[in-house]
Amino acid sequence: MAERGVDVLLVSVGADLPWLCGYEAMPLERLTLLIVPREGDARLLVPFLEAPRVVDRPDVFEMLTWRDGEDPIALASGLVGAAGTAAIGDQTWAGFLVDLTSAMPGTIFSRASEITAPLRMVKDATEVDALRRAATAVDRILADVQAGNVALAGRTEAAVAAEIAQRILDEGHRKVNFTIVASGPNAASPHHEAADRVIRDGEGVLFDIGGTMDGADGVGYCSDITRCVHLGEPPSDFAELYEVLHEAQAAGVAAATVGTPCEDVDAAARLVIDDAGYGEYFVHRTGHGIGVEAHEHPNIVVGNDLPLVAGHAFSIEPGIYVPGTWGARLEDIVVATDAGPDPLNHIDHGLAVVG
Ligand code: ZN
Ligand code: ZN
Ligand code: ZN
Repeated sequence: MAERGVDVLLVSVGADLPWLCGYEAMPLERLTLLIVPREGDARLLVPFLEAPRVVDRPDVFEMLTWRDGEDPIALASGLVGAAGTAAIGDQTWAGFLVDLTSAMPGTIFSRASEITAPLRMVKDATEVDALRRAATAVDRILADVQAGNVALAGRTEAAVAAEIAQRILDEGHRKVNFTIVASGPNAASPHHEAADRVIRDGEGVLFDIGGTMDGADGVGYCSDITRCVHLGEPPSDFAELYEVLHEAQAAGVAAATVGTPCEDVDAAARLVIDDAGYGEYFVHRTGHGIGVEAHEHPNIVVGNDLPLVAGHAFSIEPGIYVPGTWGARLEDIVVATDAGPDPLNHIDHGLAVVG
């Protein structure tokens, strides 16, 4: 904050709050606000009826409550005082920000992520452990799919997705973040929503699944993995496409060494796909950071010249999507370490043929 000339950090709903103080606020219309001055003690302003959910951390913050009928914006601006610059959480409701700018006309607001993202990006050993446990859990689920232990043919994508969601919880996650089950041509839509399409023999199915698992201090860390299977032997052109993808993903992981700019990691995966002639079908960045949020910094994308440091955790997930025909993506979570890239997912990377 001192480096960036920020007088006070204001953190409402979103992942910064649990990451900083262990409390995850519900995204309510009632204001929750952690007020962290550059110097002095942090205070957490919470709606009175939410107070029982707050785990008291007197070493971290003092809790203050407000009751229905009181004006939380007036309370908050009174607590903040005459701050010249305030960095406010990126996911704070716009309505609160509008009201705070009116109540604090002398304050310039900036994004809290300018302060928190560089800190949250670099995971300590406890956080890497939490990510590893979450990754191992989803590994077990998709290994079971690869082994043919989850019935696919004749079922709808939605039915399979519901079974996967239950497995994510059974494997110890606190919540399910997404269960993409995309069959046949639906796999050409990267964020396809599982629906009533019936999965048939002779087609591919893409699974991209993830959830949040509680780590130390009750703060949750995310899993995120993608694998593809094929019901019966794949046609040769799909098998060929998949081999290119497989090679591209491995190239991305291998490139993810400490000191390498994020955009060079993206380029390493993209080059393989470009060289094979599928470049126009790889329509997104190679990866995203992961931690308390499923998608956070650093992005593995062209234009991001941030060099990787030990502790950066991110996905490597190239995809090839041929609209109307088929698609495939292959995704692992990787941690950059001084000993080289450390993938947290370990199950087979090939296109598994299932019955
Ligand atoms: Zn995604
Ligand atoms: Zn994913
Ligand atoms: Zn991902």
